[in-house]
Amino acid sequence: QVKENGRNHFRFFAPEMNQRASRILEMESALRNALARNEFELYYQPKIDLFSGALVGAEALIRWQHPEMGQIQPIQFIPFAEESGMILPIGEWVLNEACKQAKKWHEKLPISVAVNLSALQFRQDNIVEIITAALQNAQLDGKYLELELTESVVVQNLDAAIVYLKRLKQLGVTLAMDDFGTGYSSLSYLKQFPFDTLKIDRSFIQNVITEPNDAMIAIAIINMAHSMRLNVVAEGVETESQMHFLHRQNCDQIQGYYFSKPLTAIAFDEFINKTRQHPFQNSSAENAPR
Ligand code: C2E
Ligand code: MG
Ligand code: MG
Ligand code: MG
Repeated sequence: QVKENGRNHFRFFAPEMNQRASRILEMESALRNALARNEFELYYQPKIDLFSGALVGAEALIRWQHPEMGQIQPIQFIPFAEESGMILPIGEWVLNEACKQAKKWHEKLPISVAVNLSALQFRQDNIVEIITAALQNAQLDGKYLELELTESVVVQNLDAAIVYLKRLKQLGVTLAMDDFGTGYSSLSYLKQFPFDTLKIDRSFIQNVITEPNDAMIAIAIINMAHSMRLNVVAEGVETESQMHFLHRQNCDQIQGYYFSKPLTAIAFDEFINKTRQHPFQNSSAENAPR
């Protein structure tokens, strides 16, 4: 019977596993080619300070411009990049590219740039050297680079994570916890980590006006984060009323389609020019109910 089960097991699961393994291999070589052919591109989403109305930063978000398939979103290839290890060279490219871009924008405006770091990158032995080199290549001061890590990345191995995070902090960079509220971490142990910023996940912001529970969660996160002296960013702000709600609750910064979708470097440059001519300050001060 054991043998029978074993056989069934083999018959039912092995083909699937093989398919999956070969799919990862296929994607690995596709990603390797994409990197060699320079098919990746960074888009940048503006981050706006709610009190001054100023443009304060950009989050770098990767896209794959595939010659046949067109633009491929990160959700469709980042998981494969993580499983195959290709996220390491891709992530290094992202860090270098984002730092160089930030430095260029500094001729106009001293904004910071945020880069998403995956679990594998975070645990990479030479991550400190890689980030140091990216900052040096770009001649960028570490305080203008923010590293975004999700809860799940940090929570996997708490003690080691604290050591890794402190290593990163020594580079003078700032650290943001991304997608907060979607994982298992609690605010109480967040204070053990040297984070500077907490990003409230889009899923809470989405229904903040219509769902009293989501509003309560958002308010609780903002207040507790502030009591730990963390800067709070709301992700996925799409409407004016969401912005006003967050402004009333003293949220520090917002990011979302309401101000702008992620933009190409060229479009972001134009965005900088526009905000310098017409700061958001004026329009949001007029519209904000007090
Ligand atoms: P994330 O870091 O949480 O990035 C925010 C995502 O929300 C982005 O999706 C952004 O386009 C989207 N977004 C921003 N504002 C709004 C809004 O108002 N409404 C809606 N519906 N969506 C909004 P994107 O660019 O598809 O990236 C998805 C995820 O892929 C990122 O989530 C991040 O986890 C990962 N990712 C992107 N670029 C990189 C990268 O260079 N390296 C690594 N390791 N991961 C990356
Ligand atoms: Mg992020
Ligand atoms: Mg996020
Ligand atoms: Mg998210």
